[in-house]
Amino acid sequence: MLRQALLLASHNQTLTRLVTTAPGVGALVGRFAAGETTSDAVAATRDLVAVGREVSLDHLGEDTLDREQADATRGAYVSLLRALADEGLAAHAEVSVKLSAVGQALPGDGPKIATENAHAICAAAHDAGTTVTLDMEDHTTTDLTLGTLATLRSDYPDTGGVLQAYLHRTEGDCRDLAYEGSRIRLCKGAYNEPESVAIQPRHDVDLAYVRCLEVLMAGSGYPMLATHDPRLIALGTDLATRRGRTPDSYEFQMLYGVRPSAQQALVSQGATMRVYVPYGSEWYGYLVRRMAERPANLLLGARALVGL
Ligand SMILES: Cc1cc2nc3c(=O)[nH]c(=O)nc-3n(C[C@H](O)[C@H](O)[C@H](O)COP(=O)(O)OP(=O)(O)OC[C@H]3O[C@@H](n4cnc5c(N)ncnc54)[C@H](O)[C@@H]3O)c2cc1C
Repeated sequence: MLRQALLLASHNQTLTRLVTTAPGVGALVGRFAAGETTSDAVAATRDLVAVGREVSLDHLGEDTLDREQADATRGAYVSLLRALADEGLAAHAEVSVKLSAVGQALPGDGPKIATENAHAICAAAHDAGTTVTLDMEDHTTTDLTLGTLATLRSDYPDTGGVLQAYLHRTEGDCRDLAYEGSRIRLCKGAYNEPESVAIQPRHDVDLAYVRCLEVLMAGSGYPMLATHDPRLIALGTDLATRRGRTPDSYEFQMLYGVRPSAQQALVSQGATMRVYVPYGSEWYGYLVRRMAERPANLLLGARALVGL
């Protein structure tokens, strides 16, 4: 119930205004996001790369209904990618893009505009010597996002996609996308989805994650295991060993600020560990989803709002 209420709140405009202007919230944001500017993002990347971690940068913002904002987001990614190349960091840092941030939901031509913007970001990533992964949003956009992924892959085959284990359809999508060179991030799924499309009990989502992971690990693609769940991480390591995979043929991914010691432990074991680093000023929806995932984060949020 609490998780659902929080996920609904992630789209509420009044709450957005209330929370984003509250004093004390800055420290909480700082724990889960790298800052607001390109330089902040580059600095966080430098620090993470220095301790052996790979990075995926997310310019915060989603659900835009404003063409100028969608184009500005494309511009922000292009500038970021140039900065990463200039700093010699692009070999260790890719970008994650939400199609709704680059125009997917605009009336009329939204999907076409989003595809063009994403294509421009892929071109900039290619020039910089790195890649793009398309984040996955709520289930109403799954087909559109997978269709855009296929379009982008015709020019940029290394473009990554994301599948969410909680959707009933995902095991089949894993089978379709476990082909040579296909970079697929597997996560549990972060949105408030109805029973008709998504598994509800959390334990059953975990079991679905395992089934999907088995398919991806058995295939010839490049699985990216996005989870903080210690049991799934152990199982992923075990499956990779059993399938004879080397550490450069799959990777683990975690969010910036979440379980940093577990991130470093994986690096010490020789695993490839990528940290998803959000930056930018539009942090509200991202932060509320993190609180929905973990009651302890909600407590941090409540403390920040009342200034404790
Ligand atoms: C790199 C990355 C990219 C992602 N991309 C997407 C995407 O494109 N689309 C999408 O729908 N979802 C995405 N997600 C979110 C994902 O779907 C889950 O909502 C989120 O990762 C929590 O699930 P979990 O697998 O960590 O397991 P959970 O069952 O939520 O957590 C397992 C354990 O991990 C720890 N933990 C989990 N979350 C937190 C937290 N926020 N703070 C502190 N500890 C925590 C706790 O110890 C918890 O017991 C992404 C997640 C990651 C890591």
